[in-house]
Amino acid sequence: MSEQQSSAQTYDIAVVGGGMVGLTQALLLAQHLPQARLVLLEAQPLSASEVKQYSFDERSTALSAASADLLKKLSLWSKVTQRAAPIRSVHVSDRGHMGATAYTQQENGGEPLGYVVENRHLGHCLNEAVRALPTIDLRAPAQVRRIVCTRDGALLDCETAKGEFQLQSSLVIIADGAESPLRQQLGVDTEIYDYQQQAVIANLEFVEPHRGRAFERFTTQGPLAILPLPAEDGAEVSRRSALVWTRPQSLLKETLALDDDQFKHAVQNAFGYRLGGLLRVGARYNYALKMIFAREQVRRSLVFIGNAAHFLHPVAGQGFNLALRDCAQLTAVLVQAWRRGETFGDLRVLNRYAQQQTQDQRSTAFVSHNFIRVFGSEHLSLQAARNLGLLSLELFTPLKHVFFAQMMGRAQPRANLHRKP
Ligand SMILES: Cc1cc2nc3c(=O)[nH]c(=O)nc-3n(C[C@H](O)[C@H](O)[C@H](O)COP(=O)(O)OP(=O)(O)OC[C@H]3O[C@@H](n4cnc5c(N)ncnc54)[C@H](O)[C@@H]3O)c2cc1C
Repeated sequence: MSEQQSSAQTYDIAVVGGGMVGLTQALLLAQHLPQARLVLLEAQPLSASEVKQYSFDERSTALSAASADLLKKLSLWSKVTQRAAPIRSVHVSDRGHMGATAYTQQENGGEPLGYVVENRHLGHCLNEAVRALPTIDLRAPAQVRRIVCTRDGALLDCETAKGEFQLQSSLVIIADGAESPLRQQLGVDTEIYDYQQQAVIANLEFVEPHRGRAFERFTTQGPLAILPLPAEDGAEVSRRSALVWTRPQSLLKETLALDDDQFKHAVQNAFGYRLGGLLRVGARYNYALKMIFAREQVRRSLVFIGNAAHFLHPVAGQGFNLALRDCAQLTAVLVQAWRRGETFGDLRVLNRYAQQQTQDQRSTAFVSHNFIRVFGSEHLSLQAARNLGLLSLELFTPLKHVFFAQMMGRAQPRANLHRKP
């Protein structure tokens, strides 16, 4: 061991990045491996009152039933649902064509099809939970500048406003986002598909209460999703919805330049009047749409998770739900390693995780990617096929169940995480 290593504080597991995924991963590890020495490093300050991480901006996230179950096991659900709206039906249609289908809570055994939660609120819940746990050594704001693999694990060079420090960890779980500077520093290659599209998001208020209705609408310029949002404080019904509107790159400037009235008119024109007239529209934000896959998700002592491992098109609402299934599976593999007396950073342990999650990751990415290509296409034969597809879904109930299970990101997690390790 070098002199530098011996002076560094030592941990069993270091999680780098305290966005939605890194925070949830740290909470799962603290719950299932309370004996492990755990550190979480986040570049932004983690304050209880103001959420500053990128994950927790103005977006909202559609959570699958499996993600809701995971948050319940972390005892976070009652807090999360204070500002979450259940999805009671999803209506899928194609603008200008007759093909349409809907899936309702009744067809789903009476259970909501998912829940929409505002990211900022989810951020408060996760930040507070992490700050309340003494078993997580929280370092924020602290930026990890460099990771060097060593004989016993990895050495992390970190920086804060007060100066630099080093940590040594048997395993480093990297959740530093889609651009992942650490993935680049470690020379991990990526597969990238650029959709040449941007997602424009905004909060909307309609005349009619949404009553839990979500909509996916396909237009020649790309798909548009409208998700139900919870009522403002005290209101009995909610008229608020979240818009995720896919725009071709070439129309982004024009879309963002629209004033409120022009924007309302454009959205209404694309979406129609299923929720009545559009009363108000909030600030607009945009996100470049790509599919990014890390070609290596595990190395000895290293694992990439969340956006750092895979970044998917958001219209199918799968990215975070998939990342949570990864987190649960990784936790289960590490609990098993602990019981067997294996080292967390052992490549055989990490390969077990990779082998168990590859199929789920690949099939979720496949569905998400092809969904966008078929439903976002202006090609006449594809338009005809998707109309036929939507009509067939209406006619064949089993097909409809499979389609909506995939669309809602409801693949079942295999990880059987009990409360106590
Ligand atoms: C418009 C849009 C809508 C979406 N809707 C849905 C949806 O409905 N359902 C769904 O399942 N998914 C959805 N997603 C996907 C979801 O948002 C992502 O899965 C999620 O944000 C991934 O978070 P993350 O924690 O991996 O990454 P990030 O949110 O990027 O977090 C990375 C964190 O790492 C920190 N960091 C970076 N570098 C360092 C460093 N060197 N040292 C320390 N800290 C560092 C950053 O400060 C940041 O806090 C959507 C995505 C978009 C763009």
